[in-house]
Amino acid sequence: MLIPGSTIGILGGGQLGRMIALSAAQLGLKTFILCPDKDSPAFQVSDGHICAAYDDAEALDRFAAQVDVVTYEFENVPLATAERLAARVPLRPGAKALAITQDRLLEKTFVRDLGIGTAPFAAVDDFEGLQAAVAVIGLPAVLKTRRFGYDGKGQVTIRSGDDLLAAWHAIGRQPAILEGFIAFQREVSVVGARRADDAFAAYDVTENVHREHILHLSKVPATLQPDAARDAKSIACRIASALDYVGVMAVELFVGSAGGRDTVIVNEIAPRVHNSGHWTMDGAVTSQFEQHVRAIAGWPLGDPRRLGRAEMTNLIGEDAEQWLPLLAEPGAHLHLYGKDEARAGRKMGHVNRLWLED
Ligand code: AMP
Repeated sequence: MLIPGSTIGILGGGQLGRMIALSAAQLGLKTFILCPDKDSPAFQVSDGHICAAYDDAEALDRFAAQVDVVTYEFENVPLATAERLAARVPLRPGAKALAITQDRLLEKTFVRDLGIGTAPFAAVDDFEGLQAAVAVIGLPAVLKTRRFGYDGKGQVTIRSGDDLLAAWHAIGRQPAILEGFIAFQREVSVVGARRADDAFAAYDVTENVHREHILHLSKVPATLQPDAARDAKSIACRIASALDYVGVMAVELFVGSAGGRDTVIVNEIAPRVHNSGHWTMDGAVTSQFEQHVRAIAGWPLGDPRRLGRAEMTNLIGEDAEQWLPLLAEPGAHLHLYGKDEARAGRKMGHVNRLWLED
């Protein structure tokens, strides 16, 4: 267990690392960031940083020597980096969560082996494999690279047999997974935290709306029947347990319908704090960032209860120019990430809107 004054090392210096650092500071903890980008938003609010590549062994050793625990804000931490750090200092969540969630095929197989529903899927290693997978899965289908996919990158929807070769080239002819196309009604996520002793606390299921493959809006409560909401939370709890997970994670799910009842299947696991949990900063008793800090510090988990109806809207690119009217809006909480350049598609901040419940 950490004591106040201890230092959390964070791999990654983006907005997630920044918001973890802010919550750590609130609880009397220090943070030390490792990130290759010299303009990292998390550097602005932490106690120190090293600007170096994630595979720079000498930098990793210096980093490990400064910190009492290491966590990360992104799932593509190289496994060799995770293992090098874990040999020197506790790594939370652990390397198992990274190894499985970095690879869509391992991840979907892991979820299916727990008896939890996913889209039908098949491994694709080459073009012949893609043809064979289409024969099994059918069309339409979604071809995704096994590794390094996020925000819709590294994936393409295949609608007809004529599109196969183009799709194979579009994803860069690399190991992939073919998934059946799910005509879902909604996308939802469960953000939850697990401690090493198996204590688990989930936030209410969040409904997510994407625009151009980037999260646009999250709202709670999700439009979801209570049984399906319970299923979604229990799925997240079982996954966290099976991963020996410590910290906050998100499980993204597709909502379907069978015989008038909502059903949920898993799309993806994120082994980190998650954009769809940003509403908790103003809309829950404990924010996901504080919850993550508590979990990795070995401290009691906070109360995940919702304070009211909440909505989070991402400020992408020039949306952030609206900061002044947003500040003036009653019930709105503005969060800006301290990024200089508002490039198209770049997450600059978010706004939480809260309607308190009596
Ligand atoms: P992912 O990178 O796997 O989270 O996928 C990004 C987005 O693509 C999801 O949020 C869905 O909107 C869509 N998508 C992914 N997989 C499927 C699927 N099997 N069927 C339909 N839509 C999908």
